[in-house]
Amino acid sequence: MSTWEIVIGLEVHVQLNTASKIFSGANTHFGATPNSQACIIDLGMPGTLPVLNKEAVKKAILFGLAIDAEIAPYSIFARKNYFYPDLPKGYQISQLDHPIVGKGKMNIQLSDGTKKTINVTRAHLEEDAGKSLHEQRSGFTGVDLNRAGTPLLEIVSEPELRSGEEAVAYLKALHSIITCLEISDGNMAEGSMRCDANVSVRKLGSEKLGTRTEIKNVNSFRFVEKAIAYEAERQIDILESGGSIRQETRLYNSDTNTTHSMRSKEEANDYRYFPDPDLLPIMISEEWKAELKASLPELPRKKCQRFQNEYGLSEYEAQILTSDMQLAHYFEAVNTASNNQPKLAANWIIGNLLGALNKNELTLQDCPIAADSLGQMIARIADNTLSNNTAKIVFEALWKNTGKTVDQIISEQGLQQITDVSALTEIIQTMITNNPNQVTQYREADEAKRSKLIGFFVGQVMKATQGKAPAQTVNELLGKYLLR
Ligand code: ADP
Ligand code: MG
Repeated sequence: MSTWEIVIGLEVHVQLNTASKIFSGANTHFGATPNSQACIIDLGMPGTLPVLNKEAVKKAILFGLAIDAEIAPYSIFARKNYFYPDLPKGYQISQLDHPIVGKGKMNIQLSDGTKKTINVTRAHLEEDAGKSLHEQRSGFTGVDLNRAGTPLLEIVSEPELRSGEEAVAYLKALHSIITCLEISDGNMAEGSMRCDANVSVRKLGSEKLGTRTEIKNVNSFRFVEKAIAYEAERQIDILESGGSIRQETRLYNSDTNTTHSMRSKEEANDYRYFPDPDLLPIMISEEWKAELKASLPELPRKKCQRFQNEYGLSEYEAQILTSDMQLAHYFEAVNTASNNQPKLAANWIIGNLLGALNKNELTLQDCPIAADSLGQMIARIADNTLSNNTAKIVFEALWKNTGKTVDQIISEQGLQQITDVSALTEIIQTMITNNPNQVTQYREADEAKRSKLIGFFVGQVMKATQGKAPAQTVNELLGKYLLR
């Protein structure tokens, strides 16, 4: 049996965070009372005319520049005609032949370190539709048009992704770019970033693409990966039993982890696209492009490189810390407050803080520990006031967010390390007297065995000092007195 190759191309819709809609002055705020934010233009009332929001154009260009894409000097809007209860105009204003952003490149990295460049075919501006609400009243569907006219940037990739993992890596890279540019809040749960996954399979080595299906609106990274895995397997099963794949649009059900058919796939010509006569072409000057290019923030990839060069972090650490701009900012604030202890800051954030947030299902935004406090705690590790163990106690106390400073916690709980060498020497000598058998054993052992036996003595000292002895000093003193 020959092996199969999975082929994936993603269409990602990103809601641009403009204050008003793409063609009207209506508010775009999420979560407002249904139909309180749709104006006559969004509803397509006769006699109204759309006016393009310059901010939406600017945000699309910023994205294009960030992925080294061609920015079209001339692009136009087209009407995409279809019927949907939440699309009052009967058409969606989109772009077809002349998208604002042309070919670009996205860099992704997989968990095993493999790097890959994925080509972006295009990114175009369009308006969002409203929403049908099926859950409010049984037997009725409500239509909320607040979302109608919200600006979207649809980013289309080439079919160059080869696994669910690659698709997720691509989405995460995209997410960090759009949040870094601050052109979208990227909130997948609220639909600010939605993904359609096109999936096909082919025999490994074959050049020809297989027939694809398109899985609509998957709303989390995890579900994207699962939906792709399920769909690829479904297609392989069909092909191996002699069947063929129908080109269609499918929906993913996260409860059952399956996809099911929604409709047969429409072709572009079904939509009767034509240039929108109400809107002028968008002309972008070289000057504006240059101005926007100069205004680009430090992008995730560059930040990742800088974190390695400037702070001596590993690529792995830098990757995690720059995957989210808020996290990157938090790290730098912790580092500053710690008086420049980047390694310790990275360790505590990646090893402790992210774990605690995850366990409590919190995001960094709701993090109970301020960057300043974590930084001060790390400064106290660096100056030997705290050991790794007592720092954990401080960390727990900070997590409870009682408003106490790190130094207050240390003095109230008596967590200062015993740095007084004579006091430690005394403790060690008593311990040696109390454990003659272990000491003899140690003295008679060879190097390799000794390094195992030493743990017992370290443990005894830590017990006697309630973990408040600096490990390095203890080791030095033990080395000195055990072999007397
Ligand atoms: P549409 O879905 O709107 O008809 P396109 O033809 O541009 O648009 O394709 C949309 C997406 O489908 C792109 O991301 C593209 O890479 C992907 N795609 C096209 N053909 C295949 C295929 N055979 N297998 C997997 N993905 C594909
Ligand atoms: Mg499509």
